[in-house]
Amino acid sequence: MSSNNTRCAACKYLRKKCPSDCIYSPYFPSNDPQRFENVHKIYGASNIARMLQKLPMKLREEAANSLHYEAHCRVNDPVYGCVGIIYQLQQELNEAFNQLVKTQTEIAFYLNFYGLSHESIDDPRVFQEDYSFGFGSSYTRPNTYGLMPFDP
Ligand SMILES: [Zn+2]
Repeated sequence: MSSNNTRCAACKYLRKKCPSDCIYSPYFPSNDPQRFENVHKIYGASNIARMLQKLPMKLREEAANSLHYEAHCRVNDPVYGCVGIIYQLQQELNEAFNQLVKTQTEIAFYLNFYGLSHESIDDPRVFQEDYSFGFGSSYTRPNTYGLMPFDP
């Protein structure tokens, strides 16, 4: 069986032998014990194992990374967890969109003032092209006018 040196962080923490087919071992290496501790604290070791087992191999690493990130955020912010960060970033996005709308309004004003058309300059609205940020199709793309409502 494995020696203490080759046990993964989970098995080391749980004080058990690390089998060759250990479910945790690929995602919780022994050199990062905090990673498992946080995830265990928030989700519990058996729940982590169950979640990983339900997933196809190719998705497990991403799931473990996601669990780790969420647990890390939850440890730092027990009330909101990563939602607190999402909320903060959305506030920043809203402020940026407000600024963009103001700037576009000013540009429109000066174009009108000097009798120029909007097409005579590079259209600043090209910046609105992609705000998906990996949120996938469930993410509602904000527009510059009705800013995103968000209720954590
Ligand atoms: Zn293990």
